[in-house]
Amino acid sequence: ARKAFVGGNWKCNGSMADIQRLTEMLNAGEYHDNVEVVVAPTMLHILPVMQALKVPVGVSAQNCYFEKSGAFTGELSTEILVDAGLKYVILGHSERRHILKETDEMIAKKTKKAIDSGLTVIFCIGELKEERETGKTEEVCFRQMEAVRAVLSEEDWKKVVVAYEPVWAIGTGLVATPEQAQETHKALRAWAAEKVSKTVAEELRIIYGGSVKGANAESLCTEDIDGFLVGGASLQPDFMNILKVTH
Ligand code: 13P
Repeated sequence: ARKAFVGGNWKCNGSMADIQRLTEMLNAGEYHDNVEVVVAPTMLHILPVMQALKVPVGVSAQNCYFEKSGAFTGELSTEILVDAGLKYVILGHSERRHILKETDEMIAKKTKKAIDSGLTVIFCIGELKEERETGKTEEVCFRQMEAVRAVLSEEDWKKVVVAYEPVWAIGTGLVATPEQAQETHKALRAWAAEKVSKTVAEELRIIYGGSVKGANAESLCTEDIDGFLVGGASLQPDFMNILKVTH
């Protein structure tokens, strides 16, 4: 059985006071071996959050670079992340694809570099509203998956958690229905069985993101949905409700 995974993506949010409130909230929670919990603060907040956490909650970066340390102003290398004690990085988030114009190729390079450095990658994919409406959901998701498949070994997939985040559901309150999400997750698992291996497909955690809340999380715990990547609600006490119902 796959271990459930819940990530809180704090995106570009939070004051020092907010960070303290959020770590206190996490420290007051109960954690069980069947759910892996990770939060992704801004790069400036990563270290204080790591220092303040007293519970088994992992900390993730929201991005990294694919080159080694050096003359890359404004970037964070995977060497720097690993040295600071990080174990996870989010890559391919729709906001980086669409606002920061990261390409499938850049994301694939970053993914390979992060895994080679020992990080677990929360690899995000997902279609735009017009792509879903024109029946292109699988085509788009498979293209995004193929870009990383091309550079990863079978072994590398053990360090990947796929986050399916339909772009139209991110920050909109328009959560995918359990049927819509399950259908895509099932298709992604079948893709992995065909293109990578049956073992990888069985073991790969595929989590859902897009307007997940305490009130809808439990109904989204379907056969092929192994947890969530939570944006807005991860900055609220409601995050703890999501943790409680995820299995
Ligand atoms: P929301 O939960 O705010 O819709 O964001 C989802 C997301 O983008 C997580 O990475």
